[in-house]
Amino acid sequence: MKNPIFTIQKHSASTLHYDFRLQIGNILKSWVIPKGPSVNPKDKRLAILTEDHKLTFADFEGEIPDGEYGAGKIIVWDRGSYQNITTQNGKKISIQEAFSNGEITFFLQGEKLKGNFSLILMKKQNEPKNWLLIKHNDQYADNTFDPITELPNSVISNKSIQEI
Ligand code: MN
Repeated sequence: MKNPIFTIQKHSASTLHYDFRLQIGNILKSWVIPKGPSVNPKDKRLAILTEDHKLTFADFEGEIPDGEYGAGKIIVWDRGSYQNITTQNGKKISIQEAFSNGEITFFLQGEKLKGNFSLILMKKQNEPKNWLLIKHNDQYADNTFDPITELPNSVISNKSIQEI
């Protein structure tokens, strides 16, 4: 079976943010990451669970008109496939189970982001939507490189968000 996809859309709405989306079944589970992902394992990036999106939205670039949900410009900042590698008590579990448990570990094979990451629900906060995105300390971890500032453009069109 083909690996599921992920996409990260840079979205210039009322505030600039990054929409991180993982294919789970036939939808895209979606998190808003205000600062965008980091490849430094010391960073914990807030990732706020938001509405599911259709799979067909994964490659969307363009401008959503004023007055519509998500109004503003969007570019595909990164995309690729991922592998769910979440375990519980030493056993592999499904991505659906991992999501329900509030802890998902996955290997990203993107154009910009690679390697192992976890999304972890902040249960103590009593806020059911706040997760953290954390890079694991593997061969792709790098505390000297910031992909957000160094690789700002679209992986589809190579355009900046202003140029879309
Ligand atoms: Mn958005």
